[in-house]
Amino acid sequence: MAKVNPHYGKLQAGYLFPEIAKRTREFAADNPDARVMRLGIGNTTEPLTPAIVSGLHAGVDKLASADTYTGYGDEQGFSELREAIAKRYTTYGVTLDLDDIFVSDGAKSDSANIQSIFGEDNVVAVQDPAYPVYVDSNVIGGKTGSGSDGQFDGLVYMPCTEENNFFPELPEGKVDLIYLCSPNNPTGAVATIQQLKTFVDYALEHKAVIIFDAAYASFISDSRLPRSIYEVEGAKECAIEINSFSKEAGFTGVRLGWTVVPKALVCEDGDAGEVNRLWLRRQTTMFNGASNVVQYGGLAVLTEQGQKECQELVTYYMANAKRIRACLEGLGITCFGGENAPYVWLKTPDGMTSWEFFDKMLNETHVVGTPGSGFGPAGEGYFRLSAFGHKEDIEEAVASIQSNLKL
Ligand SMILES: *Cc1c(COP(=O)(O)O)cnc(C)c1O
Repeated sequence: MAKVNPHYGKLQAGYLFPEIAKRTREFAADNPDARVMRLGIGNTTEPLTPAIVSGLHAGVDKLASADTYTGYGDEQGFSELREAIAKRYTTYGVTLDLDDIFVSDGAKSDSANIQSIFGEDNVVAVQDPAYPVYVDSNVIGGKTGSGSDGQFDGLVYMPCTEENNFFPELPEGKVDLIYLCSPNNPTGAVATIQQLKTFVDYALEHKAVIIFDAAYASFISDSRLPRSIYEVEGAKECAIEINSFSKEAGFTGVRLGWTVVPKALVCEDGDAGEVNRLWLRRQTTMFNGASNVVQYGGLAVLTEQGQKECQELVTYYMANAKRIRACLEGLGITCFGGENAPYVWLKTPDGMTSWEFFDKMLNETHVVGTPGSGFGPAGEGYFRLSAFGHKEDIEEAVASIQSNLKL
């Protein structure tokens, strides 16, 4: 008799986005003339830029000729692409070996799969609120107890609130795997070098491993803020970094990312190099490499022209963030983020819960956002608006909030 993985039963049935979809559907059915504006999901909207389209086309053309055709490639990714990624790190003052870099089909799969190379008895710590994949993948991997009210036993929640500028305190006891995301989804906060150093020092002391999600690194415009955890001394001995072409190059549908697992990384019961070897083993067993066509597109992203065009995309979205922030602040709403990250994290007025504010926004302004409580218990009383959208649509949403939100 086949039996399912019982850990799936602990998940609260993917509560957040289906619930948003359900309430939005019901509102649209009751208000057929209302134009619903979606600032809820972090999905890119602007087309691929010319240099990148050419790179992808050239990749297809290579497959059309016997001389340049390729089939399965190196599971770690094209060496030229890993070289281009390593070159980007040198601009942060970080040197990486090519075999520390693993090209993948995106940061979501890597951030979900990385837990599988660590034993079930690791204590896992997550920022609260957090990108839901970190929690759910560890639940599925059997590294937590059961859940109730959106919290799982055995998981260490590190609250990120206004009081600590949305960067967590160090865990009190000993934890083994620590997920950090900066620039942060959902809060839009960006960690400083000093803040990251507190965690790197903790991890080195306790032989813990930090899993650092830098998917929004390209949205940082303040040059003092770190774009990689490896800008902190000692981080190569304790941190894995995950990144993606999705948000910076509009590859959400194209699919390409990378993970850095330094050979210098040590964990409690393994020598340096062990974690790197395990991730290689995991990837060569379960993954057959990112699409070769897409990797040609990735190479184009990392050319000088590609970077120039991507920076224009980022600037476009960040202008949206500025519009959203200016509108909310003009209404007297306290907000955070939106300066070096494409998310604005607002404090709900009058102590409303996140879902109460969701309903109010939808009913009064027809704008859909994301309730902060869906990202973890400390997100209660907050609400996320995404800067991904066409400028005209963001302007329309902002105008509607301006005129129709009753405060
Ligand atoms: C969007 C997002 C990702 C997903 O990246 P993909 O490369 O598209 O899978 C990863 N981490 C965070 C925090 C994100 O918001």
